[in-house]
Amino acid sequence: MSQAAEKERSMELQKTMLAEHFDQLAKSDETGAKNAYTFVPGNLTELLHTFDLLPVLPEINALQNAMRKRSADFISIAEKLGHSEDVCTYVKCDIGMKRNGNIGPTGTKLPDPSVLLLSYTGCFTFMKWFELLKAEYDCPIVMLHVPYQADGKWTKSMRDYIVKQLQEKVIPTLEEVSGKKFDMDKLRHHMRLSREAEERFVKVLDAGKVTPSPIDAWFGGVYYISPIFTAFRGQQSAIDYYDALLAELNQRIAKGQGPIIPDGEMGEQKYRLVVEGPPCWTNFRDLWKMFYEEGAVIVASTYTKVGGLYEDGFRHDPDNPLESLAEYCLGCYTNHSLPARTDRIVQYVEDYNADGFLINSVKSCNSFSAGQLLILREVEERTGRPGGFFESDLVDPRYFSAANIKNRLESYFQMIEQKRQHVKGEVTS
Ligand code: SF4
Repeated sequence: MSQAAEKERSMELQKTMLAEHFDQLAKSDETGAKNAYTFVPGNLTELLHTFDLLPVLPEINALQNAMRKRSADFISIAEKLGHSEDVCTYVKCDIGMKRNGNIGPTGTKLPDPSVLLLSYTGCFTFMKWFELLKAEYDCPIVMLHVPYQADGKWTKSMRDYIVKQLQEKVIPTLEEVSGKKFDMDKLRHHMRLSREAEERFVKVLDAGKVTPSPIDAWFGGVYYISPIFTAFRGQQSAIDYYDALLAELNQRIAKGQGPIIPDGEMGEQKYRLVVEGPPCWTNFRDLWKMFYEEGAVIVASTYTKVGGLYEDGFRHDPDNPLESLAEYCLGCYTNHSLPARTDRIVQYVEDYNADGFLINSVKSCNSFSAGQLLILREVEERTGRPGGFFESDLVDPRYFSAANIKNRLESYFQMIEQKRQHVKGEVTS
């Protein structure tokens, strides 16, 4: 990031939080700290904090390795072990990292898992991934099965089913691993802190409704979601981070400024877009540049909802801790059906007054790439605004074709321009 970006207090805070977290992990052998490997969707961070377990998130390690250009080597290690080209590249990157000494993205060694906590939400790969990790490590594994929202909503029996698993399986396993008795008041305390952070986080993403948008809700959004979807929800540090971020955003709104980009300040915003799909981590900055050089800002994205949805009013509830953990898991974006995802994108296009929407279809993510062309067609039809489509991958650089994507984007922006001319013509004729 440029000097302008480095001055932002929120970024400095986040950098420190992450460095301290990885430092704690690296020193686990000396301190005796225990950890849980788990996933972002359906994460039970508050519960882990209750047992003083440090969260380790394999998909975050994979994406951070990709941003540091280390993923290609790890994927190659996994493929040599026999993992097919079609396997989710997060998985191959993670397995490759493990076989390469389990040195994490910050360059320090990650401890072996004290427990594998498999929160299963919507993607079958999660299950296969942890089966592989189970074969790599000698540690307990516990699974939380989250029923899929096939009908676009969850029921009380689904929630009760999760609560029962928490009571009968997850909590007893975490007690055994941590050597600590479950303390409901401690869980309530972390949930209170979560709720505070969540209130602030919603305001951050809502800022995309302002014109010009002070945030980029996809590229910039990746940084905004990091504290709340990783190790820091339920901690005071997440609240402090969002306070700092909101203060910066309010200043930017007051001055009519756009988001900070790697080159400094974003200039004129010609296109307001909604995006479906994750960014391409191996070429994160190249891709971002293709947008901001054309004056395109992302005002809302589905990726910032993978770890949990707050816009419909959900907050962690200290008065109903286990029920609310269950509701959180049920609500994350990966647990939503195709029609529910389509409705949500339509809503974003309208609520955020977007000129159109784009889909980044990820080659190796079979779970979420399937059906995206249907989403595209339907959102176009329902909103009357142009949709665009391009393909890349999460952490495998072999699937990033800069020229192709640039061409696609340029044609897409032209499409928006044509649409504008057309609308102008209709108004003046
Ligand atoms: S959702 Fe996609 S990217 Fe995530 S684990 Fe499943 S297949 Fe991989």
